[in-house]
This record gives sequence, structure tokens and C-alpha cells, in this order.
Amino acid sequence: MTDTAASALLPPFPLPAAGTAGLDHWRSLPISQQPQWQDPAVHTSSLRELSSLPPLVFAGEVDVLRERLAAAAQGKAFLLQGGDCAETFEGATADRISARVKTILQMAVVLTYGASLPVIKMGRMAGQFAKPRSSNDETRDGVTLPAYRGDMVNGYDFTPESRGHDASRMVKAYHTSASTLNLIRAFTQGGFADLRLVHHWNKGFTANPAHSRYESLAREIDRAVRFMDACGADFEALKRVEFFASHEALLLDYERALTRIDSRTNLPYDTSAHFLWIGERTRDLDGAHVDFLSRVRNPIGVKLGPTTSGDDALALIDKLDPNREPGRLTFITRMGARNIREKLPQLVEKVTASGAQVLWVTDPMHGNTVTSPNGYKTRNFDDVMDEVRGFFEVHKALGTFPGGLHVEMTGDDVAECLGGADPVDQESFLERYESVCDPRLNHMQSLEMAFLVAGALSKN
Ligand code: PEP
Ligand code: MN
Repeated sequence: MTDTAASALLPPFPLPAAGTAGLDHWRSLPISQQPQWQDPAVHTSSLRELSSLPPLVFAGEVDVLRERLAAAAQGKAFLLQGGDCAETFEGATADRISARVKTILQMAVVLTYGASLPVIKMGRMAGQFAKPRSSNDETRDGVTLPAYRGDMVNGYDFTPESRGHDASRMVKAYHTSASTLNLIRAFTQGGFADLRLVHHWNKGFTANPAHSRYESLAREIDRAVRFMDACGADFEALKRVEFFASHEALLLDYERALTRIDSRTNLPYDTSAHFLWIGERTRDLDGAHVDFLSRVRNPIGVKLGPTTSGDDALALIDKLDPNREPGRLTFITRMGARNIREKLPQLVEKVTASGAQVLWVTDPMHGNTVTSPNGYKTRNFDDVMDEVRGFFEVHKALGTFPGGLHVEMTGDDVAECLGGADPVDQESFLERYESVCDPRLNHMQSLEMAFLVAGALSKN
């Protein structure tokens, strides 16, 4: 029998271990970036409570997302993933959540036109509450306290009470995620995301004289929408959009407690989000994070910084996607504008030569963080765009598909990143810098990025 005939008899992608086998193996492995919970009894009771609460997402939705990402890996769709660096409990208001979702939908319309491809819409939302930190402590005016690690762990206020690691915050993170998801589902499924309406919101962007250079693209989109209308396109069907939730899987206690065995398949799904990613600081091949996520069925992302070698990438593929299942693995590169043209080609070449088909996504934010002269953590819009351009150039040169964009953004008029056509300057940080972690593109900067990327995609 030939190899082809033999493999035809196998299920296309042998699945990971069924049931709960191995789901706790990570506990015996090195683990970084975990909290030091102050009260063991609260920790135990919080995890027990989380284990008994309903799933936040369903296994069937997770499977749909895997199919969508498989299409993107094959060059037939584009992923847009965006949201806060760190969500906060206080920020989970109707206005802010809907502004963020609206901005992502607005960006997606522009990108869909530019790429002539479906855009998979995904929020860094409804669970992005835990942060890795480079230092365990923070010192202000001679006082040293534990660093802020996200609302799921401790508070942002600089007091000993607030900075203690309180495990009951994991339960609050669950409930805040549930109410955020509820609003997202209502917004995207309830008819509020009508293509014509989203397109109408975008007109506000081009009405700003600073954005006049985007007018011709906006006019083309306008004509396309009117053309669809004239052809009798079913705009009713376009009122509902798929929207997926994602976050960094950092606190493994939390992720494990929300992992459930799907009754249809007897396979484990991490039901805290559709998509989970492993951060640059926790992608250690023999560490707990990679092991745990290798055992759940969700599509998985891994952030890859400039020190990643081709062999690291191959080893991650072997561990996280041993069956080479399309849609399973996304590499989110965050090299920095200065490094991307030099560092990315070797990774892409090595992965491509191995025959693996991952989805390549650019995170143009995390390699471009600087401190402004007046002391704020910021990013220059031009650096961010330069990394995006480098990402497209590298993939074009290698004949591979630049499959998506991962950004820290908000729907609000904050001032956190410098520049843009209607430029943000460092003086505006004093009034409008709101992020508790990394600087985000504001509403207008996010739309501007979508217009620029759409321009690049349409030439691709
Ligand atoms: C993040 O996405 O906020 C983050 C911490 O990224 P990275 O792991 O790439 O540094
Ligand atoms: Mn960040």
C-alpha cells in the first residue's frame, strides 16, 4: 500500500487525548508569570466556583473559528484581532465595549474591501485581564509594591491592599467576561452591525480633513456598497456578523478551571475564549503554558519576538500542532519595525520548508514600545505602520500569505500612541492617556491603519 493510500484510511487529523488525561501535567512543569495568591482558602474556593460555572463559549463555535483560521492560513481570509492591552473591570461598560466592537467592525469593512477576502473579526476582549510583567515589583517615590498584573490578579491603585494578589478576582473576571460577551453577541447578532450602517460610521472618518488622502478609497467602498445594493444583495443576511473572543492564556489555574470536555467529541476545550494565545514571555517549549495549550482543542496563537529561531518555531509546531491541522496554529510575530525585514524571513522560510501551514499574523505594537520624553509608555504610529509594511514585504518576497493583524486599540478618543494623520502629541497624554498597561491606537488611528493596510492588501 502506498503512503497516500494508508493516510487516506486515517482520520484526517488524529485528535489529542480524549477526556481529562494530561490536562494537569503542566502542574509538574516550570511555570512563569503566575500570581502569589495571598489566601489559599480563597484560591481553592474560587477555582471550585469557576469549575462549576457555565462555559463562556461553546465547543461548536471554537470549531467554526478553527475552520475560518484554516481558510486564512490558506490565503482565503484575513484575521483582524484587536482590543485593549489589558481590559479592566471598570472599563467593561456598554459604551466602551460597543465603541471597541464598532471600531473593529469599521476596520473590518475597509480591510474586506482592500483584501477582497472575508475578514475574521476577533476581539482581545471578554477575558484579557491578566498581564505578564518584566518586573515583579514597581517602585514609586521610594515605595515598592507588587507590580500590577491585570484586574484578574490585583488592582491598579498603588496601595498595598490593592496590589495584593486576590484569587477572588478570577471569579470577577469570569463574570465580567460573561457580561462583555453578552453585549458583543447582542451587538453582532442582533442586527446592529448592518454593513450599510458600519459603512456610514466610516464616513465620519473621511469627513475629517486630516484624512482626505483616504477619500478615494472610501469613495470606492461607497460605490461597492451601492453596487451591491443595486444588485439586490441580501443586506438582511449581512446584519449578523461572526465575532470571536480571545485573550492571552496566562493564568493556567483559571484556564484549567474553565476547560470542559465536549460531550459530542469527548475532547477538552478551554471555554474561557474561542482563541487563546501564548505570550512572548511564556512560550518556553518545556514550560507549563505550551504543555497545557497543546492539550486543548481551541485554535492557539504564539507570539514570536525577535529572538525566535527557526528551530524554536519548528519545535513549537511539533508540540502545538503535531498533526499539522490547518487553523490550529497562528504565529503572531512582534519583531519591531527595525528587525522585521531581517528576522522574519528565516522563520517563514524554515516553517514553509517543513511543510507546516501556520497562519502568519503581525502584531506591530509590542516590538515598537518606547518612552516619550515626558515619561509615558508609547508607540509611534509610523513605526507601527512600518512593521506592518515590513510584514507584507517579507511575505510577498517569499510567496507566503500575510494573514492578519493583531493590534492594541480602543474605540475611544484616547491619546496613548503618537502620530497619525490627525496627530496625537505627547502633551495630550496628560489629559487622555487611559491605558493601565500598553498604549493603544485610538479610534481614528485604528481606522487610519485599516485604510493603510487595505491599500497594501489591494496591491498584494
Ligand atoms: C500583549 O499582547 O499585551 C503582550 C504582553 O505581548 P507579548 O507577549 O508579545 O509581549
Ligand atoms: Mn500589550
